[in-house]
Amino acid sequence: MATMESLIGLVNRIQRACTVLGDHGGEGSLWEALPSVAVVGGQSSGKSSVLESIVGRDFLPRGSGIVTRRPLVLQLHKTESGSEYAEFLHAPRRKYPDFAAVRKEIADETDRITGKSKQISNVPIHLSIYSPHVVNLTLIDLPGLTKVAVEGQPESIVRDIEEMVRSYVEKPNCIILAISPANQDIATSDAIKLAREVDPSGERTFGVVTKLDLMDKGTNALDVLEGRSYRLQHPWVGIVNRSQADINKNVDMIAARRKEQEYFANSPDYGHLAHKMGSEYLAKLLSKHLESAIRARIPSIVALINKTIDELEAELDRLGRPIGVDGGAQLYTILEMCRAFDRIFKEHLDGGRPGGDRIYGVFDNQLPAALKKLPFDRHLSLHNVRKVISEADGYQPHLIAPEQGYRRLIDSSLGYFKGPAEASVDAVHFVLKELVRKSIGETEELKRFPTLQSDIAAAANEALERFRDDSRKTVLRLVEMESAYLTVDFFRKLSHEPDKGSNPGSTPNTPAPDRYGDHHLRKIGSNVSAYVGMVCDTLKNTIPKAVVHCQVREAKRSLLNYFYAQVGGREKKQLSAMLDEDPSLMEKRNAIAKRLELYKHARGEIDSVGWK
Ligand code: GDP
Ligand code: MG
Repeated sequence: MATMESLIGLVNRIQRACTVLGDHGGEGSLWEALPSVAVVGGQSSGKSSVLESIVGRDFLPRGSGIVTRRPLVLQLHKTESGSEYAEFLHAPRRKYPDFAAVRKEIADETDRITGKSKQISNVPIHLSIYSPHVVNLTLIDLPGLTKVAVEGQPESIVRDIEEMVRSYVEKPNCIILAISPANQDIATSDAIKLAREVDPSGERTFGVVTKLDLMDKGTNALDVLEGRSYRLQHPWVGIVNRSQADINKNVDMIAARRKEQEYFANSPDYGHLAHKMGSEYLAKLLSKHLESAIRARIPSIVALINKTIDELEAELDRLGRPIGVDGGAQLYTILEMCRAFDRIFKEHLDGGRPGGDRIYGVFDNQLPAALKKLPFDRHLSLHNVRKVISEADGYQPHLIAPEQGYRRLIDSSLGYFKGPAEASVDAVHFVLKELVRKSIGETEELKRFPTLQSDIAAAANEALERFRDDSRKTVLRLVEMESAYLTVDFFRKLSHEPDKGSNPGSTPNTPAPDRYGDHHLRKIGSNVSAYVGMVCDTLKNTIPKAVVHCQVREAKRSLLNYFYAQVGGREKKQLSAMLDEDPSLMEKRNAIAKRLELYKHARGEIDSVGWK
């Protein structure tokens, strides 16, 4: 008996857990897997009275007409000692030691959903009763089946009630307490009709005959109670509840039970069945059946719990686990995610992921194309060379070679390289920025943390700006270096070339009269152009080196260094602000974690009972 009670108690706890989780049923739910007992019968057949006498307390609204208008899920919890009390799921932590108040709360809670009208609702009321005087059971009181709608009720009510009752009793785990009043023909009993429909074999149907005391004198229900009228797998149980007169006189439960027992003991018709009649016997019979039903279900319940736990775990993994609350754990989480981002970013650069090749594209296409487009033809045109040379010479034409003119022409030409150099820096900067954006999007771990996402993006972009500034300075310096000191060898070679000029008679160190002649100037122009071409080839190679050195290599090496240093010095409060998740995600995770905990708790309890 003790084991059985703990088993049913365990099931009650699991059911409560499911109820708390909002798991009211539906395919595959835990609720579905557990047996419960539903009371089914016509209006005023005595359903609520039977439930009450099983519980041994007065707490259900009773009376004529349609009183029960919402399903009542009633869980009985046997306590070792102490006073008894009730608790509603809709008012948790509020204890009702007074059962008259329970009855009132059921009526009020019914009205809360259905209004004062005679509407019915399929939203159940959950009630738990804790008492040393009950057997652990889960019972469901249902609205009575009716044959006609009365005033104020919609025509559909007959069907509606039947559908609702059916939705409870058709579940294979529902044990049906089919209540038939003895003063009506069992053959026309609504309860038996419905029970036969949903449980043709009768293995989960218990026939209960009420109102035996109201039978016409000289008649009895022995044919029914002894299973001759309608055979069920389980024995029929006869009951004598309190009459309306008893209720009006406030006859209490204990007195009623005693009276019931006396009735059977002294009955000439049922005396021989006395030990198998009455509400107490019914309660014991039910408990026993429930025990074996649960015993048989334990493996599948455990399997269902395990399956649900696996699903919840997988879901949690998908959503990301909750983060620790202390600063250390938060810092660790942040750094882990930075590293994950950094890894992906590097993969983009190194070629594991696409995008890094676009940097090479800058050096291989954009830079050469930009260099090619530089307007040297115009700058070194005959007209401009003459202008620059003569301006540089001033009032006195140059004697041997136009040193100043060369310098000016070269200097001004080299200035043109700044544009493509800076453009390369910018182009690579934008590629890197795009790769940061992409990498953030591809870092799964970061998805849950929009704030951290934008923090990392901001830090990475800030670093990229710094690298860009440095890179820009470096490439401009490369160009300036070319201006600062010209390649002497180039000009040395030039001066050894014989001047195949138009004036073969003149010696090189004699000022010639055609100092500004076309041929001479063209020669100067082509010399400068050759020199600039040489520098161009050099820069085509050195600009990429500078850009990679200052931007790409630095991005790979120290993109988040500055950020790491900053984060390391932050307070716990700032850290949690960075890990500020999307609230709906947080809620979802919490809900799942809570469910998981309850399911694990339920599994732990089943394991602790030791059933396999
Ligand atoms: P429900 O509508 O099926 O829940 O039926 P109730 O439990 O509310 O009972 C309806 C009426 O029948 C009440 O007035 C009860 O007092 C009365 N009643 C129920 N069972 C018995 C019984 O076994 N004997 C007598 N005399 N009256 C009963
Ligand atoms: Mg009722």
